[in-house]
Amino acid sequence: MAMEIELTAPNGRRWMQPLGLFINNEFVASSNGQTITSVNPTTEEDICSVYAATTDDVDKAVAAAKKAFRDPSWRQLSGTERGALMYTLADLVAEHAETLATIEALDNGKPYSVALKENVPEVINVLRYYAGYADKNFGQTIDVGPAKFAYTIKEPIGVCGQIIPWNYPLDMAAWKLGPALCCGNTVVLKLAEQTPLSMLYVAKLIKQAGFPPGVINILNGYGREAGAALVQHPDVDKIAFTGSTATGKEVMKMAAATMKNITLETGGKSPLLVFPDADLELATTWAHWGIMSNQGQICTATSRILVHESIYDAFLERFKAKVREVSVLGDPFDENTFQGPQVTRAQYERVLSYIESGKQEGATIALGGEPAPQKGKGFFVAPTVFTNVKPHMKIFREEIFGPCVAIVAFQTEEEAIQMANDTTYGLGAAVFTKDLVRAHRVAKEIEAGMVWINSSNDSDFRVPFGGVKQSGIGRELGEAGLAPYCNIKAVHINMAA
Ligand code: ADP
Repeated sequence: MAMEIELTAPNGRRWMQPLGLFINNEFVASSNGQTITSVNPTTEEDICSVYAATTDDVDKAVAAAKKAFRDPSWRQLSGTERGALMYTLADLVAEHAETLATIEALDNGKPYSVALKENVPEVINVLRYYAGYADKNFGQTIDVGPAKFAYTIKEPIGVCGQIIPWNYPLDMAAWKLGPALCCGNTVVLKLAEQTPLSMLYVAKLIKQAGFPPGVINILNGYGREAGAALVQHPDVDKIAFTGSTATGKEVMKMAAATMKNITLETGGKSPLLVFPDADLELATTWAHWGIMSNQGQICTATSRILVHESIYDAFLERFKAKVREVSVLGDPFDENTFQGPQVTRAQYERVLSYIESGKQEGATIALGGEPAPQKGKGFFVAPTVFTNVKPHMKIFREEIFGPCVAIVAFQTEEEAIQMANDTTYGLGAAVFTKDLVRAHRVAKEIEAGMVWINSSNDSDFRVPFGGVKQSGIGRELGEAGLAPYCNIKAVHINMAA
């Protein structure tokens, strides 16, 4: 099989798509020639096959990253020089924005306009943000009296294994690469086997930007094979994982054998609370965005909407109208499309099985609740609203990861907080009220890593992102995102020696 193939998308854009494993700045075949086929979720047709890493390939990538970590071409760069490489990569991503957005729409099924206006800019912003930090992230001097001197150095951790999911292939890669490179680490990035194409294209740009060989290695491969090999590898010093809570727990167990430093960003079942004094139009707009954008495939999706009983009916009617107005299903390359297909047949079937379980457990389908193929094809699911939902139901407790929302009534603020916190997850939470005192009070009481007052799923590269409870460990983005990628070394000097 060739190492690249020419692809053409429905929007007419043509590019050379790399198909190999990116190790030591070269694209190579997998050791036994195994591949994974990427499928276009809109047409259900194969796009191309991409080499999939074996355990041996993971060994090679880790060896490359280990060697690069010690090599003066990377190790002796100043933070300013590392930052310059990252700025160059960000500029190259900007130059190739249309191609990257096209690949994302084709491989993941997200609307092209969203990939172009949100996902590609996020990569550029995150790289530039952490490029700027690369020469501003240093230690402290500590007063320990006149006879002694103590200071700290922030050192890179070493080889970082990074495992990303399929819902935001570009953004998730940038969130991980940005802080890791900023601090001087080297990386083996394992892509999600469902959506490898955009980041393999970025790999070409990484070489072009001038990063020394082995600093960034990028592997496509199955989670249980390549992912597990990376997590268990004795020469990997840190694992950063984004994905499901179940897999996150497995990663944590495997990482324990070599006591690896870990950060986990896992699932959620985030609540959105609407109080009686809320601006209903504002609440409806954000509530819709918070669950229906990205085909509902968002870990922070506000998938449980809790509405005060006095405005419940009015909110429900407005929400349904908003879905009908905004959630236009269709081809991701059609500029009117808001919602594309679910990423794979497996996800599509999983979402439909949750809809079935909702029906069986006695919830009412107030809208949607069925497959919605476009021109007879594609993994499309109609945006779905459940009412008459009880807290014990699976659709209230488990992460569906699709365009499905439960809308439930509450009577008092106390009850709303109790329902919001009645979950093993703790990623995001949204609160709609005009009363700032209430907003602050509720924000404090909610068990979540992020709270949005009068918005939902507002994310910014300058602001920490992450969860509590079973939604994760550690933070990405912002200054807080640097801490998981450096060790602090303390140096004690005895001045009286
Ligand atoms: P999903 O079920 O939505 O695909 P996962 O959490 O399983 O979510 O996948 C997220 C990422 O974790 C993907 O890159 C996947 O390949 C990887 N992965 C899956 N299983 C394992 C595992 N046992 N060890 C390491 N990585 C894994």
